[in-house]
Amino acid sequence: MTDTLRRTTPTVRIGGVAVGSEHPVMVQSMTNTDTEDARATARQVAELARAGSEVVRITVNTEKAAAAVPEIVERMAMMNCEAPLVGDFHYNGHTLLKKYPDCAKLLAKYRINPGNVGFGRKRDDQFATIVEQAIEHDKPVRIGVNWGSLDQKLLAGLMDQNAKQSDPLPADVVMREALVVSALHSAAQAEQIGLAHDRIILSAKVSAVQDLIAVYRTLAERCDYPLHLGLTEAGMGSKGIVSSSAALAVLLQEGIGDTIRISLTPAPGQPRTDEVVVAQELLQSMGLRAFSPMVTACPGCGRTTSTFFQELARDTTSFVRDKMPEWKLSYPGVENLSLAVMGCVVNGPGESRHADIGISLPGTGEAPVAPVFIDGEKSVTLRGEALTGEFLQIIEDYVKTRYAPRG
Ligand code: SF4
Repeated sequence: MTDTLRRTTPTVRIGGVAVGSEHPVMVQSMTNTDTEDARATARQVAELARAGSEVVRITVNTEKAAAAVPEIVERMAMMNCEAPLVGDFHYNGHTLLKKYPDCAKLLAKYRINPGNVGFGRKRDDQFATIVEQAIEHDKPVRIGVNWGSLDQKLLAGLMDQNAKQSDPLPADVVMREALVVSALHSAAQAEQIGLAHDRIILSAKVSAVQDLIAVYRTLAERCDYPLHLGLTEAGMGSKGIVSSSAALAVLLQEGIGDTIRISLTPAPGQPRTDEVVVAQELLQSMGLRAFSPMVTACPGCGRTTSTFFQELARDTTSFVRDKMPEWKLSYPGVENLSLAVMGCVVNGPGESRHADIGISLPGTGEAPVAPVFIDGEKSVTLRGEALTGEFLQIIEDYVKTRYAPRG
């Protein structure tokens, strides 16, 4: 794995998961089911956890949602899902946590947005109540500022101060400063109330890449709390993936960030678990963690004669993903396996030799055979309609032999 110098932070424990500079960057996700529907929510939490989400956040927005938490946890247990659950609270968290102690007890962390805790003088009291509940139940808290719900009083105060300067800063710089100040001020408030320093994680999410990078660099300079990274409202499809990856990659490369979430808007019918896959692939492609065997494939070009090459690359990728939940229990280290599916002889054999297992398909005008390379050596030549099944079987056999526990 790549040795980026992580910014030093204390360890914060979220249920059984440890977060901070001593631990790998953690992947989390959030459900989009109605939390009041315990069955659907538990099912989606289990799906996200099975996809690799190490912590899952649910919104706790109503009394019925808070009351549903015990049933959600019970249903998760029936599916052998032990992922720590984080409760996302806005406006009524102080009431819900007090009125539903089982909810307060079963959640592994509370997320508070300082801009959405309450209004006027009630804001500080309601914030204090949530923090007191966290202390009583020994839970960590993420203070998660979001530019869409930034504390307007704080922002207006900073804007006024800035306007009085002889050389005022641009408004977007003041907005970024307001996000940082809001997060740090709320964290200091939580510590004054009695929450331990190592029970706090901070986030300050915005939806523009350059703003996110600037805000987190400043936060990283001014505190040592672990930081949760995410581009909020990242969007759909490739836009969401590219913007999130662009922002998070810069920060992670600088050693900033202890947990991440990719906030993709799923297309209708798109699995929620895609956000977990993208988060894992981001960390793995940066060499920070390994989750699942990586499939290298060439882009294809005029030398590839049919869609068969694309189908084999796709089938190999989904085969490996489907097998991973079972493989990772039985074959330690299998996540480091590297595979290559190449479209012709130009780069095919070379790239295939660099992978643990590689296959080079025939391009235009080449003999209809596909040499397979294992550990850099040509092993077998496949051909004909059974090629896909035979190649996947070679992968499975290799995993069983190479990664079987010794002794
Ligand atoms: S390996 Fe062959 S098929 Fe693939 S992009 Fe390169 S030249 Fe094209």
